[in-house]
Amino acid sequence: MNIQTLLTPFARKRSAESLSKDRSKIRVGIPKVLNIWNTHQFWIGFLTGIGIKHTNIIFSSNTSEEQAREFGKGRGTVDCCYPVKAMSGHYGELIFGQKNKINVLLSPLIYSLPSVLNGHVMASNTCTRVMAGAESIKSGFMKEKNVFEENGIKYASPYLTLDDRIIIPQQMFDGLKDIFDLSLEETKSAVELGFKALDAFNTKLQKQGREILEQCAKNNKPCVLVLARPYHMDNGIGHEIETDLQAHGYPILWMQYFPTDPDLMNWLFEEDINSGRIKSPFDISDVWPSSYSSNTNEILWAAKIAAKCPWITCVIRLSSYECGMDQPTFTPTQKIVENSGTLFFKFGDLDSTKPTGSVRIRVETIVHYVKKNSGSIIENKLKRIKTKWPLE
Ligand code: SF4
Repeated sequence: MNIQTLLTPFARKRSAESLSKDRSKIRVGIPKVLNIWNTHQFWIGFLTGIGIKHTNIIFSSNTSEEQAREFGKGRGTVDCCYPVKAMSGHYGELIFGQKNKINVLLSPLIYSLPSVLNGHVMASNTCTRVMAGAESIKSGFMKEKNVFEENGIKYASPYLTLDDRIIIPQQMFDGLKDIFDLSLEETKSAVELGFKALDAFNTKLQKQGREILEQCAKNNKPCVLVLARPYHMDNGIGHEIETDLQAHGYPILWMQYFPTDPDLMNWLFEEDINSGRIKSPFDISDVWPSSYSSNTNEILWAAKIAAKCPWITCVIRLSSYECGMDQPTFTPTQKIVENSGTLFFKFGDLDSTKPTGSVRIRVETIVHYVKKNSGSIIENKLKRIKTKWPLE
């Protein structure tokens, strides 16, 4: 008699099969450029989630002239702002400069970003040069011959709308399934781990930002807020201007990690909300109605914070040479900040060279004004807010 075997319950499921894949030997290189600066934890969380070892995730080093000279020469693109141009050095360093070769070069095409302002603005898109940067730089490594292939490297560049978490697993799966031999299920759980890591990191830094503000409030001391794009944290792009200032004893807050606790936000924006000028602390329609660009939106929002927050007595605005996105924001941000009596200093054309001498002189000038005026700026700004600072 023929006994039929029930195949399905005993068969190995596809997801289990994929989960057992050993990826511990795969080495992934990520160029530390542009919006990797504010999403790096997502990539670490995702890659370790699919079984890549921490030690096998390699970020390129910070931007430098040497990096560009040694690894990016002859592979540049025309007509690009400096942060994009600098990418060829990062690609080259990962391809040619590793003792242990990488197997995958991961450089995502990020169309939109997670942002504290999502839901309050029209969109959170990246600059078009940022979005297309990965593609244009890749072409510099393929124009004569395929350098990736020649070095046994797979090039991975998933297209991502990071402001829409629901769609990300599918986008990551589409862009990476052939590179890492992924299943959709494991991609989903790894994406979850990626966002968990990113959220945890942001929360940690916001908490530190709040601690700085609390210290300033407690001691009636000033701090400095940096208005810049995430990649200005790269000391080859932002030239450590804020570090020089910090060395003079003024704590630095980066707008990307400004604390967003409801008590603090409501305290700062209560009057504007009550008067109907804005709908929430994250509403920037009063100063920037065409709010489509993520970093730009955040710059305008941070300018409003600087104008309100008593202990921010000085704003440093960083912008790169040839930045088309920043041009229309210069006047509004300066006006918002200066109308509140807060000091405003702009470094507007940062490029590859660090003009050390002039930076030092400007930093000394800034320090002079911060020292001289902070006391009265704090006092005047405190007078304008009628209610008490939440934790005092
Ligand atoms: S935002 Fe400005 S500096 Fe950044 S990539 Fe776009 S144009 Fe270049």
